[in-house]
Amino acid sequence: MLVLFILFLLSFAQVYAKDLVLASSYPLYYPLKYLAEGRFEMNVLIKSQADPHHYELKPGDLRSLQRAKAFLYLGLEGWELKIAQRVPEIKSYPLGKGMELIRVGKGYDPHLWLSPKAYMGIVENIQKVLSQIDPDGSEYYKKRASEYMEQLKALDSEYKNALSTCKRRTLVITHLSTAYLGRDYGLETVGLRGVHAEEEPKPSEVRRMVERAKRAKVSVIFAEVGHDEKLAKRVAQEVGARVLPLNTSLFPEKEEDDYFSIMRRNLQRLSEGLECQGK
Ligand SMILES: [Zn+2]
Repeated sequence: MLVLFILFLLSFAQVYAKDLVLASSYPLYYPLKYLAEGRFEMNVLIKSQADPHHYELKPGDLRSLQRAKAFLYLGLEGWELKIAQRVPEIKSYPLGKGMELIRVGKGYDPHLWLSPKAYMGIVENIQKVLSQIDPDGSEYYKKRASEYMEQLKALDSEYKNALSTCKRRTLVITHLSTAYLGRDYGLETVGLRGVHAEEEPKPSEVRRMVERAKRAKVSVIFAEVGHDEKLAKRVAQEVGARVLPLNTSLFPEKEEDDYFSIMRRNLQRLSEGLECQGK
């Protein structure tokens, strides 16, 4: 009897202990969670609000990375590339591969997720990786990805419709995270700080941005959740604009948040700040 019970426990553990797939940040975690539901255990490495340009691995992270069957990352950030040195056994999959990227200096702008249109490529790449590491589930991943893609197409139309009607076409934001959004939906975009958010702008650069914002009749400066608001407030004051929040790291604000709920909230704020029709 006892033997049977132990055998039962072992088979139970076998069925329910799933392999771990780890995503570097929330923008990659949301579609992974949807596509791989029921077939893998999934988790996200960076659980902080700031946008993932700099990250120090914690001891717990190293254990997760060593245990993971796959690590999904964009492959466009310095800290991500160092992970392979710290955890040589890691099986990592760069999802930024094959995408139409915007060049910045010697590297590329990583903020693909803020454009629903560009984001479709990431979802496709996640599907490919999952089918590669778990071929038995490939039909399932295909089905889940096409469901996710339908939702993305609807979101893309909402972005297109709303953002094509804006009275203001210049988006000023705490750091340059909106270049893909601007490219794909026809907006000018100005970052008070650069793509990687680290450098403090020189007074002469701040003056130029203030002048540019005034010329474009900007009425809102977007302050990103988790970023320093001081500069945004100062510039807003000089321009005579208000400050509105925008969640660019896609950090969940509510427990049930996913890509779509956060991006729809962002679109509402963009529509309000850029004075798009219906606002
Ligand atoms: Zn950023």
